[in-house]
Amino acid sequence: MDFDLPEDVVAFRDMVRKFASEEIKPHAREWDEQQHMPKEFLQKLGELGVFGILTDPEYDGSGLGYLANVVVWEELCRHDAAVGFLLAGHMGLCTTHIHLAGSEEQKKKYLPKLATGEMMGAWALTEPDSGSDAAAMKTKAVKDGAGWRLTGTKQFITNGSFADVCVVVAKTDPDAGAKGISAFIVEKGTEGFAAVGKEDKLGMRSSDTATLAMDGAYVGPEALLGKEGDGFKDALRALERGRVSIGAQCVGIARGALEDSIAYANERQAFGKPIAAQQAIQFMMSDMATEIEAARLLVRQAAVALDTGEDARVPASIAKVYASEVAMRAALSAVQIHGGSGCTKDFPVERYMRDAKVAEIGEGTSQIQRMLIARELLKAG
Ligand SMILES: Cc1cc2nc3c(=O)[nH]c(=O)nc-3n(C[C@H](O)[C@H](O)[C@H](O)COP(=O)(O)OP(=O)(O)OC[C@H]3O[C@@H](n4cnc5c(N)ncnc54)[C@H](O)[C@@H]3O)c2cc1C
Repeated sequence: MDFDLPEDVVAFRDMVRKFASEEIKPHAREWDEQQHMPKEFLQKLGELGVFGILTDPEYDGSGLGYLANVVVWEELCRHDAAVGFLLAGHMGLCTTHIHLAGSEEQKKKYLPKLATGEMMGAWALTEPDSGSDAAAMKTKAVKDGAGWRLTGTKQFITNGSFADVCVVVAKTDPDAGAKGISAFIVEKGTEGFAAVGKEDKLGMRSSDTATLAMDGAYVGPEALLGKEGDGFKDALRALERGRVSIGAQCVGIARGALEDSIAYANERQAFGKPIAAQQAIQFMMSDMATEIEAARLLVRQAAVALDTGEDARVPASIAKVYASEVAMRAALSAVQIHGGSGCTKDFPVERYMRDAKVAEIGEGTSQIQRMLIARELLKAG
C-alpha cells in the first residue's frame, strides 16, 4: 500500500479542512440543538465538490474515488460527525446504489444532479420490525400494470424528510426470501409516499432521520433499480462501500476528541500545573493517538481495496467496527479529561460521545460487523 496521498487529494483535503473550521465548527453546537443543518450549508458542500467525489466524470462527478472520499469525510466529521450521516444517506448509499445498479437512463437522470446537490438523496432499507435482519422486511412492491405499488413503512431513514429521491428496497416476491427483494427509485411528491415523522436522537442530531410511509405508492417500470430480485444483493454492495466512509467519519470524531483534549489539558490547571503534566492524562492521550492512527490506516486500506476493485467486504467491516469503537473510546476519554466541563455543552466533547454511540449502530452494528467478519474467516478456513 502506498502511504503517500496523491497531490490532488492533499489539495482537496486542505481546502475541506479550512472549510470545516470556518463553516462547520462555529455552528455545530447550534445545529445539534436545533436538529437541523441549513440548506445553504448543503449548497456549499455541493459547490465544494463533496457530493461528486464517488461519481464518475461522465455523470458530472470528479470520480476521485474512495481514498479521496475517506480523507475528505474525516475532515468534515472532525467538527460535526452528523455531516457524515447526511453524506452517508445521500452519496454513500443512494448515489452509490444507483451507480452500481442503475440503467444508463437512470444514471443520466439522477447522478449528475446528486453529484452537485441539485437533488438530495436518501436510501431506505430499515423498517420498524427489521434492522440487522434486513431481509425480514415487510414492505411490498406489487405489480400494477407495467409499474409497481409500494406499501410499507421504512424507519430511521437519513435525509428522509427532505430528500428529492429515495432508493426504497421492497419485497417483490415474498416467498423468495432475500432473492425476492428489489430496489426502486422513488421521487419526492409521489402520491402515497411521505415522511411521517422525525426522530429526536441521542447523537448525530443535526442529521435528519425520518420515518417513511408508503400506502400503495405507484411507481412506473422505469423506477425499478437493477434487476428484479437483485435488490438485496445490490443493497449489501452499497452498504459495504458505505461502511468504509462511516469508518472515516469515526476517525474524524476520534481526532476531534484528541485535539480538543490536548488543548484542554494544556490549559487546565490542577495541583499547580497543567493536567497535561500528569502521566495518567498523557497515557489516555497516547492511547487515543495510537488507536486513531490504526483506525485511519484500516479505513484507508479498505478504501484502496474499493478503488482497486478488490473484495472489500472484510476490510470494510473491520474498518467500520474498529473505527467506530475507537471513536467511542476516544470520546469517553475526552469527556474524562475535560472533567466537569466535559459534562456540559460548553465543550463539544459530550457531543462527540453521543455521536460516536450512534456511529456504532448506524450502517450495521458492531455485532453485525463481527458476524460478517467471522463468516468470511470461517469460509476461508
Ligand atoms: C441515526 C441513524 C441513521 C440511520 N440511517 C439509515 C438509513 O439512512 N437507511 C436505512 O435503511 N437504515 C438506517 N438506519 C438503520 C440502521 O442501519 C439500523 O438501526 C441498524 O442496522 C440496527 O438495526 P435495528 O435498529 O433494527 O437494531 P436490531 O437489529 O433490532 O438490533 C438490536 C441489537 O441486537 C443486536 N443483534 C441483532 N442481530 C444480531 C445477531 N445476529 N447477532 C448478535 N447481535 C445481534 C444488534 O447488534 C443490536 O445491538 C439508521 C440508524 C440510525 C440510528
